[in-house]
Amino acid sequence: MVVAPEGLWVPARKPDAQRVLCVTGAGKHSGQYVEIVSDLPMLRKLDESGWSNSLAIFTEKRWRITSDPTGSKCWLRSQKLASFQFDASAWEKREGKGWVPQPDVSCRWGLASELETKLRTLARKALKGKLRLTLFRCTAPDCPKGCGNVLAKDWGLPSLADLLGHLTYYHRGSSQYHEKVNEAWNQQLADELEQQEEDGEELLSMFKASLNKHNYELKTKTLNVAHHVNNIRKIVQKRGCEVSRSLANDQEVYDEVWQWQEEKSGHGRLTVSLRWLKKFTEVSALEAYDVDMS
Ligand SMILES: [Zn+2]
Repeated sequence: MVVAPEGLWVPARKPDAQRVLCVTGAGKHSGQYVEIVSDLPMLRKLDESGWSNSLAIFTEKRWRITSDPTGSKCWLRSQKLASFQFDASAWEKREGKGWVPQPDVSCRWGLASELETKLRTLARKALKGKLRLTLFRCTAPDCPKGCGNVLAKDWGLPSLADLLGHLTYYHRGSSQYHEKVNEAWNQQLADELEQQEEDGEELLSMFKASLNKHNYELKTKTLNVAHHVNNIRKIVQKRGCEVSRSLANDQEVYDEVWQWQEEKSGHGRLTVSLRWLKKFTEVSALEAYDVDMS
């Protein structure tokens, strides 16, 4: 991560102090960039359609207009400045491998309190909610419809493990799921987890904690976490077995439960819960691998 210029950037604590950088003459990159919560000077473009992917970041003595939160790649950059506070009057645009001066580009500082009402409200909400833009944004087309978690799409999740869990629980059809999970998946570790001896009750409480951690109840309130836990309990009680990872990964168990009268009259809710337990076993293996790597 890039280090902020020492002692210079003091993030706004109150909406009255939230900064805005107005960029003009930069074509589609023109607009109002609003200060967001960050350790380095970072402002995010905000317009009628909401928060955009464009950022203004001050790193290595330049303002950079970019979609990359690390600031290492950018479309447009200012001349070198001693501090983010100075006016950047000379800008250049990347063209091929070089940089071309952009005499029409200029910027000026303002405050979020000067924005029109709708934008001012959004700016204030981001500051008060301490929303941080992360590198782990969900790009699944059905996010947030499939998960109910607006932050995952708009601001990103705190870590790669959180993103992997989010995709595994809610967006299994997305290309991001296939790409990221394939990259992180470790079959050997998943097999080891499935074979280890585990206490059924402990596994059930891990299942519950994992669904809560991944904000399951933003997705739906009708079949909540407690329902899933109760349904799994019903299944093991009736079958006279323990809760285990292999239970959720065994097709024979699903075939058996489907035959039960209460499953037929309950619209298949027991096997729905079993499938959530199966997703949990996958999330837990991904998280275990992530811990292993760090
Ligand atoms: Zn989502």
